[in-house]
Amino acid sequence: MDYLPIFLNLSGRKVVVIGGGAVAARKVELLLKAHARVRVVAPRLHSELIVLRDAERIEHLAVAFEPLHLDGMALVIAATDRPEVNRAVAAAAAERSLFVNVVDAADDSSCIMPAIVDRSPVIVAIGTAGHAPVLARRLRAQIEALLPERLGELAGFAGRMRERVQRLLPDLRSRRQFWERLFSGRIATQVLAGHTASAERLLEQELEQARFSAADASVESGEVYLIGAGPGDPELLTLRALRLLQQADVVLYDRLVSEAVLARARRDAERIFVGKAPGEHRGTQEHIHALMLEHARRGRRVARLKGGDPSVFGRAGEELEALRAAGVPVVIVAGITAALGAAASAALPLTQRGRSQSITLVTAMGESTDRLDWRALAAPLQTVVFYMGIAQLPRIVERLCAHGAPAERPCAIIERATLPQQRVVAASLGDIVARARQQAVAAPALLVVGDVALHACETAACAGSSAEPEPRQLLLQSALAC
Ligand code: SAH
Repeated sequence: MDYLPIFLNLSGRKVVVIGGGAVAARKVELLLKAHARVRVVAPRLHSELIVLRDAERIEHLAVAFEPLHLDGMALVIAATDRPEVNRAVAAAAAERSLFVNVVDAADDSSCIMPAIVDRSPVIVAIGTAGHAPVLARRLRAQIEALLPERLGELAGFAGRMRERVQRLLPDLRSRRQFWERLFSGRIATQVLAGHTASAERLLEQELEQARFSAADASVESGEVYLIGAGPGDPELLTLRALRLLQQADVVLYDRLVSEAVLARARRDAERIFVGKAPGEHRGTQEHIHALMLEHARRGRRVARLKGGDPSVFGRAGEELEALRAAGVPVVIVAGITAALGAAASAALPLTQRGRSQSITLVTAMGESTDRLDWRALAAPLQTVVFYMGIAQLPRIVERLCAHGAPAERPCAIIERATLPQQRVVAASLGDIVARARQQAVAAPALLVVGDVALHACETAACAGSSAEPEPRQLLLQSALAC
């Protein structure tokens, strides 16, 4: 190990930065975050530093560097663009046994600045001993994506509870077990989801339980995450979905959840398929409720993965009610609904000035189709996206046209949106049924009706299907209006 990683408490201590440019400004910003008292020595200042000086947040000596500027300092940063000045600073610091960082010159430095992931009070510092700063930055980006946004809040929460927990659980072993459970269980999930009040309530309950069953650390009930898995492409999972998916002990998944998404679950998690074939509805929903409750009651973390967003035609309402009634904690994680994923990957906007000023998401299945307000759905200047409608396609088109939609109105079917097998069939309302039949379009697919669907056509006509990444196949039929 060439360097010892160490966290400096600079609060109220003096740090001098030699140099007044943009690089120095970045360092000053960081030092102020760490509550240091910053002195900047530079004949001229960058505009950001001028603002800080005027606000009296830094002291500024508008002179050339002299060794006496280092007297009384806890740390020295040399950040000028003149190597000879930086070297003089390093030499003066060495003479005074002061740690010095020379920006971009590890050889002249006695300490180097790491790349930082800041979830204060949790801080991750990454260093490559000056060998590969770009690699350090890449690692930082990866760790940024990995660490929950509210990790700092979780650490702060634990910090606030520390003393109480210490008093209630004097035994070191049971205390450690308590914290282990806290960080991997529902209290942490609640804090990380921003539900601090509910986390506090849960903590009170856990403390009570832990107190009465002192050494018995096994009193733990599970929780359920209703996770929107997006339309299929795993890159469209949210960071929260990914994190909870990776911590779940059991994964209940639908037919619409892609293999690629499922592959992101923990390797040792139990996977249970709870998909329903189209049309086969009754009974299975009850079965899903029972499964979720059974596993949660056994203290397991259950991920209920749903295609798209759980609250869009996803029966989140029923599942939420069942879990609430049973007192099982739930976290709902939003997902990208099929219409949004499809619009992006078929390159069509859902709203557009002069073409569409509203979006309607409709489910068109069986008898319920009759109850829809077809006049409203047939009106111009809007985008209507039909979910679960492919089997009903002729009926949908017939209703729209019967209620005033012109046969030339553009529409597009997007099948298996965002997946490598995605297909787009664009046509006019008058032609779409024949086109879909010709192309043997199958579920899962969406029907987008409205002038914005012209873009699906324009994309292919302008860019050619080669613009679409392989192996994605783009099957486009020209709409009448194109
Ligand atoms: N909760 C889901 C919708 C479930 S209803 C969501 O928010 O997306 C199921 C319907 O969604 C399917 O019949 C189909 O119309 C649509 N769908 C889901 N995934 C799709 C995909 N990858 N491509 C096209 N349509 C999709």
